[in-house]
Amino acid sequence: EWALRGAARIVKEVKNPVTGEITKHVITRGINDFKFCQELGDGSYSTVVLATSIHDPFKKYAVKILNKAYLVRQKKVKYVNIEKQALQRLNNSKCVIKLFYTFQDEQSLYFLLEYAPSGDLLALMKKHGSLSEDCTRYYSAQIIDGIDYLHKHGIIHRDIKPENILLTEDMKVKFTDFGTAKILDKTNVNGNNEYDLLTRSNSFVGTAEYVSPELLNDNYVDYRCDIWAFGCILYQMIAGKPPFKASNEYLTFQKVMKVQFAFTAGFPLIVRDLVNKILVKDPNKRLGVKDIKSHFFYESIPFNILWDLPPPPIG
Ligand code: ATP
Repeated sequence: EWALRGAARIVKEVKNPVTGEITKHVITRGINDFKFCQELGDGSYSTVVLATSIHDPFKKYAVKILNKAYLVRQKKVKYVNIEKQALQRLNNSKCVIKLFYTFQDEQSLYFLLEYAPSGDLLALMKKHGSLSEDCTRYYSAQIIDGIDYLHKHGIIHRDIKPENILLTEDMKVKFTDFGTAKILDKTNVNGNNEYDLLTRSNSFVGTAEYVSPELLNDNYVDYRCDIWAFGCILYQMIAGKPPFKASNEYLTFQKVMKVQFAFTAGFPLIVRDLVNKILVKDPNKRLGVKDIKSHFFYESIPFNILWDLPPPPIG
């Protein structure tokens, strides 16, 4: 029932330097090929540990370890398979944590992931209280470009929040935690074989502060829930707190349903304008990715070389 092998099998192509001939070698990777180091973090269903390869001690990985019995008890097996499938589909992306290998032993499942050494976006915002306009522009441009990439590949994340946005050594954003993603298949859309992003899904709630009003009001979401979450994060970068926050989930939901939020003193007008056009109750009236990218706030951002831009001084 687990969509994982005991050891990962990788086909490596080796080119003969003299003849140029390419030979294929099958190598396997299992738990004994890695040295486990300190714990990096704890999720609801997993522990994430730093590891190095015994074949290359300079190569670091983040290993997500999931306890099989616990997953079965909590009925979360489905989510593990979704995470693997989503990461595999997105494996060539600049904006998604890379999945190198998966394997299992008697007790656990192992996801060998790209290690993001600069922590997550929540920790970054907490450390500095809030972000400058320049930093907000830099990080949010990557997030919206990343969301665009996910959607173009038929993946709706559905739980975008600062904890799920990790940072590489050179401060580039990387989405993680795809366990609750919606993976679309290509269908006939207006005569073309493509992903129908308007596919609705229900019976799912992400995280209270970032959940979209259509989920609470009408019990459905489509790709535009990720855009809503983006609007919340954009607000949070400047304000230092999410727009919809109350002492408990119920009260948070009330605020989301009424789109009841206020800008903090000194909140830049240009970002207010953008937030006001994204945090719109009716998803049909919410700004789309294309219009967000061409908003005046991103006028100085060349999206074609976005991922090569150096980060601004933090603050
Ligand atoms: P959740 O409770 O959000 O469902 P989870 O069980 O899916 O959590 P993750 O959120 O993926 O687990 O990971 C838990 C923590 O481990 C993260 O908050 C982060 O601090 C750390 N972590 C996860 N992946 C990486 C990585 N690739 N590089 C560095 N740290 C990581």
